[in-house]
Amino acid sequence: MKSKFTLLILISALALLALCAIQAYLISNTYELKKDAFMNEADNAVAEISNDRVLDSIYDVLIEEDLENHLADYLNKRISKRQAVDRIFRTADEFNKNYLPYYKSKIVDLDLGYTLLFQYDLLSIGIIDYPEVDTIFIKNKAERSRIFGEKFTTGEARIINLSRTFDTNEFIEQRGDSIFTSSYDFEVRTQELIQVPNWKAIVLGRMWVLILGSVVLFLFVIGLLYYSIKNLITQKKIAEVKTDFINNVTHELKTPLATLGIATKSLRNEVILSNKEAFENTLGIVERQNNRLQKLIDQVLTNSLKAEELQLHKEQISDNVFFRDLISDFKTATQHASLTVVNAVYKPEVLLRIDRFHLTTALFNILENAVKYGNDTVHIKVETTLQNGQYVITIIDNGIGISDKDQKAIFDKFYRAGNSNVHNVKGLGLGLYFTHQIITAHGGMIDLKSIEDEGTTFIIKLPI
Ligand code: ATP
Ligand code: MG
Repeated sequence: MKSKFTLLILISALALLALCAIQAYLISNTYELKKDAFMNEADNAVAEISNDRVLDSIYDVLIEEDLENHLADYLNKRISKRQAVDRIFRTADEFNKNYLPYYKSKIVDLDLGYTLLFQYDLLSIGIIDYPEVDTIFIKNKAERSRIFGEKFTTGEARIINLSRTFDTNEFIEQRGDSIFTSSYDFEVRTQELIQVPNWKAIVLGRMWVLILGSVVLFLFVIGLLYYSIKNLITQKKIAEVKTDFINNVTHELKTPLATLGIATKSLRNEVILSNKEAFENTLGIVERQNNRLQKLIDQVLTNSLKAEELQLHKEQISDNVFFRDLISDFKTATQHASLTVVNAVYKPEVLLRIDRFHLTTALFNILENAVKYGNDTVHIKVETTLQNGQYVITIIDNGIGISDKDQKAIFDKFYRAGNSNVHNVKGLGLGLYFTHQIITAHGGMIDLKSIEDEGTTFIIKLPI
């Protein structure tokens, strides 16, 4: 049965895990799709602006006219490579000053709902004199490469365009006093980048219904599973408890019934019929067994009552008198070879308002247990004190104790600790349940502390 449960829980957990994996896969797929859609949207937005005539001309001016002059100066050895590059960036800065605000306003006009940054980067400039290439500029080695657009803060950028311009230019070359017209081949590579800061949050934001729905659904399934398994375990426990109870009752009923059977048979016996003393004796047995059966049935019946259904008949009584009677009755009723009950009741006396009959039963149940689950020498101490306006009764025994696990369920109906069956002590598991009901009906509380093999302490708090 137990392994079946473990298997059930294991399979459920695996199924849940598989479900989780599938869900994660679907979400990540959707994320990719949404991401692509978003990026396309951003690309299109930029394309709309890049095609703007004003901005389009930037590239022509920057790359074609301006660069041509600087390269001519370089080839005439009037400036160094470094100076040529510096000049290009200086012109670029001028452009930025004039056109960046214009560009930004265009983006604002698009009303995208998010920030879109754009950058135009120079990758390399090279003068080609086959097979040699004279590299004027290369991005990897430079501190700066941006010729137009905004500086990106760190984060992912997306290349939307890579371009390579290959051309031949003519320039006026001075050699001494003579002037020639020469030509050279050159290559310029550039890239366009865009960045949407926190684009991940935007994409995820567009998926919130899906994500939230999945999480809620998932939690719901887990909850349902948890609830079902818990229910199943409870049902199983109840079934076990019921079987135990029926076994216990049968066992308890069998002994008096068997004794009754023998007694009635012997009542037919001539020898006993003629002997008055023996006859009375046997009748006594019948009576006692009858009482026992009656008590047993009463116990089962009263225990089916709930705390709120208990009818209490309260009376005023001195605690000293109550406990003196209780302990003396208990000692008489319990035939035990070695039993000491220490009476440590609070002095001076306190007047209690209690249902004497029921409270006696409640405390009797605890005292009986101390003997039933005790060792050969039973030592019980009944102590009472006043604490924060409550009357506190402590009953301490030196019995076998109750394990932590059992302590939690000890006041449950029909509950018997694991060891009580082993120790072969009879009982229905109703005593403490009933005690708990009676104390609750009095508006009080009951609790216990116990150490296995050392003993148990029950603490009862009653309002005064
Ligand atoms: P009955 O209904 O006849 O009283 P019971 O004694 O088994 O049957 P409870 O009095 O409710 O039922 O006790 C429940 C269980 O708690 C017992 O079966 C026993 O295992 C454990 N128990 C109770 N009191 C003590 C104690 N003083 N020391 C050790 N174990 C105890
Ligand atoms: Mg008991």
